Order: sequence, then C-alpha cells, then structure tokens
Amino acid sequence: TVGCVVVNSTGHVASGTSTGGITGKYRGRIGDTPLPGCGGYSDDDIGAVSTTGYGEAILKYNLAHRILTAMQSGMPTQNATKLSCEGMTSRLDKTAGAITVSNKGEVGVSFTSTRMAWAYQLGDEIHYGIEKGQHLVEKA
Ligand code: ASP
Repeated sequence: TVGCVVVNSTGHVASGTSTGGITGKYRGRIGDTPLPGCGGYSDDDIGAVSTTGYGEAILKYNLAHRILTAMQSGMPTQNATKLSCEGMTSRLDKTAGAITVSNKGEVGVSFTSTRMAWAYQLGDEIHYGIEKGQHLVEKA
C-alpha cells in the first residue's frame, strides 16, 4: 500500500490509498482498498484515515471508519488509531496499520504488523519511522 491523509488550513480532509493487493489473491478480488470505510475514509467533521494490511480483515472490521468513529466519540487521534488496529488484530488475528489526521491536524500512526513505513511533516520538521516504537525527527 501507498496511503496518504491530508488536512488543509480550513480543516478540510482527504485520504488516498493504493495497493497491489496481497500475494496469492484470487482473480477478481476487490479487497479493502477501494471500499469506503475500509482502506480509507474521510469526513470533514472528524478526520481522514488510510489503512494497510490484510484486506479481508480490514474490510470485515471496517477499520478506517472505526478509527473515525472512536475519534468522533472523543478519543484522541493516536489512541483511536492504535486501539482500532489492535482491536482488529485481536478479533480477527490478522495485522494492519493505519495513518490518521484529524480535522485539527492531530496525527495518528499505528500498526500491528512487524513494520510499516510512515512519515509526515509538521512545520519544518519531518517525522518518520518504520520499526515499532521508532519516531525519528529531522529538519526539512
Ligand atoms: N490492504 C491490501 C489488500 O489486502 C494490502 C496492502 O496493504 O497493500 O489488498
């Protein structure tokens, strides 16, 4: 997957997700990526999400929409992203990751897979990582 989430200065949000699917997929498989609420979802009242990982579990769990629903009920962006990814993995025994931005610019990054490359820019700082617990910062 290559995914992105964006917010502008007025709080308008958007997300994008692209994928090659999973290894050994059935011919005609659609997967989670093009399905709203699964591979991604955006709502100007809350934020935007893009997900990656095992598509059949992501779509059963409606992962992107679940993250936004948790945020809508008041959960901070990072907690909503982390708890939803962990909830999917504990319920369906498959891994996933997500990047989230709220309409106020709060960022969430989480994954239950071994690794997930992620990055975002805040002002003149670039934040990035790939391993669990890794959070590197560099000047842009
Ligand atoms: N979610 C994608 C799929 O299952 C795989 C990926 O993360 O790119 O099709």
